[in-house]
This record gives sequence, C-alpha cells and structure tokens, in this order.
Amino acid sequence: MNAFVGMPSFPKASSKSVSDAQLRHNLRKATHTIRAKRALVVDEQPDWAALRSAGAAIKDRTLRHLDVYLERLEEAVTAAGGTVHWAADAAEANRIVTGLVKATGETEVVKVKSMATQEIDLNSALEAEGITAYETDLAELIVQLGDDWPSHILVPAIHRNRAEIREIFLSKMAAWGRPAPADLKDDPRALADAARLHLRERFLSARVGISGANFAVAETGTLVVLESEGNGRMCLTLPETLISVVGIEKIVPTWQDLEVFMQLLPRSSTGERMNPYTSMWTGATEGQTFHLVLLDNGRTSVLADEVGRQALRCIRCSACLNVCPVYERAGGHAYGSVYPGPIGAILTPQLKGMAGPLEESLPYASTLCGACYDVCPVAINIPEVLLDLRSKVVTRGHHGQRLAMGAARRVLDSPRWLAVAQNSAGRLRHWTPRRLPGPLSAWSDTRDVPRPPKESFRQWWATR
Ligand code: SF4
Repeated sequence: MNAFVGMPSFPKASSKSVSDAQLRHNLRKATHTIRAKRALVVDEQPDWAALRSAGAAIKDRTLRHLDVYLERLEEAVTAAGGTVHWAADAAEANRIVTGLVKATGETEVVKVKSMATQEIDLNSALEAEGITAYETDLAELIVQLGDDWPSHILVPAIHRNRAEIREIFLSKMAAWGRPAPADLKDDPRALADAARLHLRERFLSARVGISGANFAVAETGTLVVLESEGNGRMCLTLPETLISVVGIEKIVPTWQDLEVFMQLLPRSSTGERMNPYTSMWTGATEGQTFHLVLLDNGRTSVLADEVGRQALRCIRCSACLNVCPVYERAGGHAYGSVYPGPIGAILTPQLKGMAGPLEESLPYASTLCGACYDVCPVAINIPEVLLDLRSKVVTRGHHGQRLAMGAARRVLDSPRWLAVAQNSAGRLRHWTPRRLPGPLSAWSDTRDVPRPPKESFRQWWATR
C-alpha cells in the first residue's frame, strides 16, 4: 500500500473529489450500471441467501484453521512441481519476487490484474531493480499509462470516461510500446482494439508473468483466476516463469467449497452468471516454472481481532463499493489505498494499523446505511466493524471526541441536566451556528449543525 504514502485524512482527500462534477458523473453512471446488473442476476438465484451463508461459513471455518490449510496448500503445490515462498510483509514479498525475476535474467514482466501486488506496490519495487512491469488488464493499463492510481477494486479506471481514455492512449501508448492509431475514436470497440494490438506485442515477447489469485484450493494446490478479457489467461500460459502473489486468506479447503464462490463472485462483481474466463493451474505445467508467494502483510493481526477478522472473508467482488453513497460521491482515491469503498474503510486501518490521520479517518467514511452489508456475498457486517474501529480510534486518544462523549454521557445520565440542556438549546436555536469553532470544526466541516427544535419531546408531552 505504498503508492498512497502520505495521503491526507479522508475528509481532506474527499473534499476535492466531491466537488468534481465530471468525476461524480462518471462514478454514478458506472456504479449504477453494475449494481443494476448485479441485482437482476442475484434475484434470479432462488438459493442466494443459503449460498451467502455457506460462503461466510466456509471462509470462517478456513480462517479458524488457516495454519492447517496453508500447510496443506504448500504440500500440494510442492508435490505438483511448484515452489512456495512465505512473505511476512510487503518488503519481503517484493524482495522475493524481484529476486525471482532477476534470476531469470529478464527485465520485463507481464501482469495479470492483482490486488495483492498493488497492495505491496510491486511495480515500484521492480522498477527500482530495472524491471518494467506491464499491466495487461484493460483498466489497469489505463491507470498505468495515465500515471494514475486505481480507484475501484474491479474497474480501477472507473473514474475515467471514454474521452479521457482516448487522450491517454494517444499521448502515452507510444512510450510503452505500440502507439495508438492516430485516428483513434473514443468508442469502446476502437479503444479495446487499440489496447489489444498494444498488448499483443507484450504477450508474445514476455518470458515472465506475475499474477495474484482469486482462490487457492488447499486440497490440490490449484490456483484460480477469474477475469473478463482473456488477457490474464495469456499471461498465465505463455511465459516460461509464472510468479503468483497470493494473500493467505485466499484459501478454500476443497473444490466443493470453491463451487459456492464460483456462484457468488461473478454475480456480485460484474453482474454475470459466470465470468467469461476462469483459469486454473496446479503447480508447474510442462515447460513452465511456477512460484507461489504467500503474503501475510498484516493479515494475521487482522485474524487476531474477534470483530475485525470477518474482513478477511472478502472475495474482492466490489459490490459494496457500487452501492455505497459515500464512495459514489468521494471516489476511490480519497480512501488512500488500493482497497477503496466500504471494504477499504475496514481493511486498510486493520492491515496498516491506525498509523496516521488517514487510517484513523477511514472508519468514519461511512453513513452506516448498511447497504454494503446487504449486498456482500460473504455477509461481512461492515457497519459492525466500522463501529468497532471507531471505538478503537476514540479509545486510543481521539481527545476531542472523547471529551464530547464524556460530556454527553453526563448530561444524558441526569434528567435535570438534560432538561436544562434542552431548554437552553430551544431558547438559543436561532443563534445555532452552521459551523462549529475550534477543534469542533472537524465535525461540522463535513455536515451542517442541525438547528434544535423549539421544544423538547418532554415539553410537548407535558402540554398534551
Ligand atoms: S466486502 Fe463483501 S461486497 Fe465488499 S468487496 Fe468484499 S466480498 Fe465484495
């Protein structure tokens, strides 16, 4: 998660994006389209609730016995001719991967879209060693060419519209390989064709491929990647060396368990009954060397938290982003992490710790409307985790909020003080400021101060 180092707190980062009308239009159009598609295909599945419960139960059981399943996965991958590496953090994972690439003597790699490699900022680590990483997913390619950051789990370039993508292709493609045609139009087919021709050169010349995985089946050591474009399959099959960086929570014990997620994930992410391409591989195939890097990077400390550990069930479908009113207005960059939206608001502070103003502010980047919980295919109770994280922020020393809560408790505990406070508020209501002074302004920067009612409920009741 290094690409976003030095990000300001969520309210500061989002204050610019909420006033960007073009960005809000792009986000609204894209998220509403995907969420409508999702709702249709989920509604036609009569056992959706049972599938959702099964998905949550499988993930919980796997997380409870993660040590056992990880060892089983390692044994199976090794028996199938692959090599397993263990990475405690991002630095170790980057060291392992750059070392493996350097050992091949290659200076270029092709990449399948992968959240884990974004999380550890692998591209920068490779670049520091003189290795160029080429993103091959269309949306990732747009982000890379535009020298931009991803802003959505599934559609990293969701904040860009077609005209902007055309501009990026025309001005940047030539520096990375085959240029875009000079007469490039901004219709989707023309843009996809330009990307296809640009990427084809990469697929045919690359000798090293780097991927993540959506799932890792412990019983056979099989890794699974779901995708829409087929570019991932080219990266997984053509290069001589394949390196997969996979978070330790991606394990499912058996193929029978996988069946549940193969129904949950495509419907929740792209709103399809099944994704167009599903690639599975077990160990090293003939003529190919395979390395699996199992990444912790904060996951075991998340696992130790009784409330927060449910975030590790996440299958990165992005359904929670597409229904979140805060994400729709603030956009993905404001979350300062490769995990934006509701899942980012609970995962980033847990993976990185409440290390700074950004991580402390993320649990507040929500209206707690619960829409994220409703759509989550593995029933992660995101509002519950948000509240738990907020209580941790306050306990750790959010002084202003702690003082305010202490004062509120004393007033609410005493009927006499409550009556005094309500009477005073009613009398002074016309002088209620829209913005609060001093440290309290942090609260009113993002919301209007409500004007108190003329009389309290008790006063009104007394006159009945
Ligand atoms: S939290 Fe749930 S809805 Fe959000 S990305 Fe993860 S699995 Fe999907």
